Amino acid sequence: MQSSRSHPSVLADVTLPDGRRADVSLRDGLIASIRERASDGGAPVEDVRAAGDAGDDRVDLGGALLLPAFVDGHSHLDKTFLGAPWQPHVPGGTIRERVDAELRTRRTLTVPVAERALRLAHRMVGHGTGHTRSHVDVDPEAGLANLHAVLEVRERVRDLMTVQIVAFPQSGVITAPGVPDLLDAALREGADLVGGLDPHGFDGDVDGHLDVVFGLAERHGVGVDIHLHDPGEIGAGQLRDIAARTAALGLRGRVTVSHAYCLGEVADVTFARTASALAAAGVSILTNGPAGPMPPVLRLREAGVRVFAGSDNIRDAWWPYGTGDMLERATIIGLRDDLMTDDELRVAASLVTTEAAAALGLDRYGLEPGSRADLVAVAAASVAEAVAAHPRRLMVMHAGRVVATDGCPVAGLPAPEPGVQRAW
Ligand SMILES: [Zn+2]
Repeated sequence: MQSSRSHPSVLADVTLPDGRRADVSLRDGLIASIRERASDGGAPVEDVRAAGDAGDDRVDLGGALLLPAFVDGHSHLDKTFLGAPWQPHVPGGTIRERVDAELRTRRTLTVPVAERALRLAHRMVGHGTGHTRSHVDVDPEAGLANLHAVLEVRERVRDLMTVQIVAFPQSGVITAPGVPDLLDAALREGADLVGGLDPHGFDGDVDGHLDVVFGLAERHGVGVDIHLHDPGEIGAGQLRDIAARTAALGLRGRVTVSHAYCLGEVADVTFARTASALAAAGVSILTNGPAGPMPPVLRLREAGVRVFAGSDNIRDAWWPYGTGDMLERATIIGLRDDLMTDDELRVAASLVTTEAAAALGLDRYGLEPGSRADLVAVAAASVAEAVAAHPRRLMVMHAGRVVATDGCPVAGLPAPEPGVQRAW
């Protein structure tokens, strides 16, 4: 058992998600016990840094909200421009035009994928993210190079966060030569799930696309996470196809459809039929709170469908926005989906914590004795306030070790590439 400032044994005076004030004891990277405090005394949240350490192995958090570390359920570590000079956004029309534009930009980047991905991973950790599922481009041009880079980064950040990798066919499965074999190789070489992309809209062959994706899932015993931007009835029909294949292969709880904008567009009768199929098959829906139509979070939950959240693109060829802050993402989703009451704000928080952890199948996730001590202390007095304001992160822990304070990873950032004049 370690016990020191970097491995505190007690987090004193935290506010739990249910509002109780408590002391949380940690041991061997896990939560050992949670003891409710007799009174709610202690320094106000704003003074937590002044409150400081309450001993070598006690950290007094002065009533700050303690949450399990955030889960970014959908990222693209290999795509980010972080660590490279600012890249002006190149507008595109269709998904295929944007993919082509991204390929052209990718060829001009001199900062290696691993360097940029590492910088993004560090930024996520600073914001309190302890786990992410990163889609990684597997296409005829990149081959498995991006996968190898992200595998390297996963190893380098293993003491900071966990990374699931989806082998993502960004250039298509059917219409890009050799991609089924590349996906097969990616799953042999360390990818955890197989991805997909608009079986109808991108590849024009729903059955052919899904035959490959679910065939690989069955052969390798892995889960599935498919990007689906196809609109309206065309999109909803594919959701039901995916649900049917999920049920047929016994993949309940291991299949996600990311984006599924169509669920925010279709008529009530189609929505009900599709949500029912997703719930029955155990298919989850991922949203990042996009600008256009989006899956209605509360209606899907009422229908029994698990919904969770992720950043998606963070400063890359798809858009210039994104910070990797999952509380900010909860704010965006709440605004987009009109989540206003405290109960609804707590739902928004669950999308980046418990619901995302369940969708990713994370082990020992949560805030109870026996859970992994992957934690984040937020300068807020309640979950609702944290979502509404996404205030600063006071401390982040991974497996019982302090990995970031006040938004900055304690390990520091990698050195900048020559020609990039910034260390942040
Ligand atoms: Zn994506």
